[in-house]
Amino acid sequence: MSYLRRWRKFHAEATAIALESSSSEDEISALDERNSSWNESENASGSSVEESDNSVDSVNDYGFVQNIESSDTETCQSDPDFSENEELPSFREKLSAWASTNKLTKGTVDELLQILKKEGHAELPKDSRTLLQTPRTVDCEDKCGGKYIYYGLRNGFLKILTHSAFTGNSDHTDHINFNVNIDGIPLFKSSGSQFWPILCSIQGFGPFLVALYFGNAKPNSLNDYLSDFLQELEDIQQNGITHNSQHYQMKLRAFVCDAPARAFLKGIKGHTGYYACERCTVKGFWKGNRIVFISTNDHPSRTDTEFENRSYPDHQTSETPLVQFGIRCVTSFCLDYMHLVCLGVVKRILWFLKQGPNECKLSQRQLYEISDKLLSFSGKMPSEFARQPRTLTELERWKATEFRQFLLYTGPVVLRKIISKQMYEHFLSLTVAISILLNSEDEKRAAYLNYADNLLKYFVDKSKDIYSENFVVYNIHGLKHLCDDARNLNCSLNEISAFPYENYLQSIKHMVKNSKNPIVQVTKRIAEREFSKCEDLKVASTYTTVSTKPRNRCFMLLNETFVFIREKRDNGRFVCDLLRQRDCENFFTTPCESKLINVVFVKKRTRMTRRLVEKEELGRKAVCLPFDDGYVLVPMLHGVEK
Ligand SMILES: [Zn+2]
Repeated sequence: MSYLRRWRKFHAEATAIALESSSSEDEISALDERNSSWNESENASGSSVEESDNSVDSVNDYGFVQNIESSDTETCQSDPDFSENEELPSFREKLSAWASTNKLTKGTVDELLQILKKEGHAELPKDSRTLLQTPRTVDCEDKCGGKYIYYGLRNGFLKILTHSAFTGNSDHTDHINFNVNIDGIPLFKSSGSQFWPILCSIQGFGPFLVALYFGNAKPNSLNDYLSDFLQELEDIQQNGITHNSQHYQMKLRAFVCDAPARAFLKGIKGHTGYYACERCTVKGFWKGNRIVFISTNDHPSRTDTEFENRSYPDHQTSETPLVQFGIRCVTSFCLDYMHLVCLGVVKRILWFLKQGPNECKLSQRQLYEISDKLLSFSGKMPSEFARQPRTLTELERWKATEFRQFLLYTGPVVLRKIISKQMYEHFLSLTVAISILLNSEDEKRAAYLNYADNLLKYFVDKSKDIYSENFVVYNIHGLKHLCDDARNLNCSLNEISAFPYENYLQSIKHMVKNSKNPIVQVTKRIAEREFSKCEDLKVASTYTTVSTKPRNRCFMLLNETFVFIREKRDNGRFVCDLLRQRDCENFFTTPCESKLINVVFVKKRTRMTRRLVEKEELGRKAVCLPFDDGYVLVPMLHGVEK
């Protein structure tokens, strides 16, 4: 029956992930059996983590309420069931969607078709390529020293504009901002073969593939590589898109790329250069095999006009076609926080704590203590996190999402009382600043933008005293300019981050099964997915799972009250235990009161009030981590990772 569940998923795109998580987590503990017969058929799979979550002990261990009879129900944000009028897919359509979603090989599907035909399904084709409508030929050009295919910007936008989650959202306007991501991804370790995709996304939707280059090196001509894209970009920005009698004005908001890709596209020195900073004219100097930027003075800002006039000969190395197309090469290229902060700054902090110079290196005992605490949080992070915390011994394998998890949620708890007060407060200044910049509420973010800016500048200037001068490389200096993006583009850093692109790049990579014509393989897989209506057009959501399980039941309401889901009622209502404001203490008070970013500490056995809460009141999901004789509550600042 799993293909049926899969199929339902495609028709509930906006809640696809929710459906998956609810089906995998709908376990029934002995305690709940009497209440949960409706989901007994879906409780086959589960993890040991969830089993421990289900236990009565772990519920009571939270201490806020006594004698809980957990109903252990989970729900997703909208009802994924079919409406009565919806046409049901045919067996053949279900089969093609299932085969495409599960990325089965041609041989496997051919074999299955053979069996099914023998069992009486004569209507099915014998070849998987007919079933999946795989294009028999794919035209690709020889370009820039490799192979190249252009899929189109307008085509991608139309997929979003016709998407049910877009048309069903009354908030959308006729002014649409979009971001572009360009990056190189290596394909095979044994060769230099690589893809250079151009991706595009609208806030909350995407990404989609605009163009794809494959070669043994990066494209040898930037002009040729970008020409189709830039021409269509110019046309779309000038003329907009009309769809279903509705006209949309389209505007490029930002290029979201890592530093090497930015250097390639803008024709500037790489991030290891003396004049690498893209926002100011500071000159770095050579120290400890690195270029470091320890000047605390303000240096003149780079401007779009001066960049256009090639006024920075020590920074600009070659012409870029972007300038001819009117793209602002300084302010439109955001300093993506996934690369700069998560993979840059946070990773560097942890490596310096682990094996940096003596002034900052922690003892083995301190490192073990941090690792032990991290491990104790495993299974306590909400379902929206792709990974549970790992120890510092696995640091070299940590992904960008894990560094983000450490910076925003676990780090402030596990570092407390282990590293020095000075180091801890220095770390918190980064946590607070990034938390402010990630806030999706425009008013609140704008109100504290200058404060976040000051915190980041303090963090950079102070870091050489704490971690040594060698610490202050390109990424650390870049923090000084991070607020400019949130200010100029008037958005949270979530809206201009590379996280969604990173997932998509990995999915492109996984479409390649062997070294024969990788670009053709990707194009065929994308065509099959589009035909099967299961293309990877991701729809962002803030949370997916509402449950009575400890890790999934803590929320911050829109009025900033913390609640714990106790029981699910019909009509999207929940019986909740509410924390009173006076029982929420600050978890830290330096550099500011933690309540400023809605981080609070609550003692065990705090009494709570109970009331019915509407689904619409649930604002942000919160992480609830044990600390001393209570819990630290941290509302989530990002959407779903999976
Ligand atoms: Zn700078």
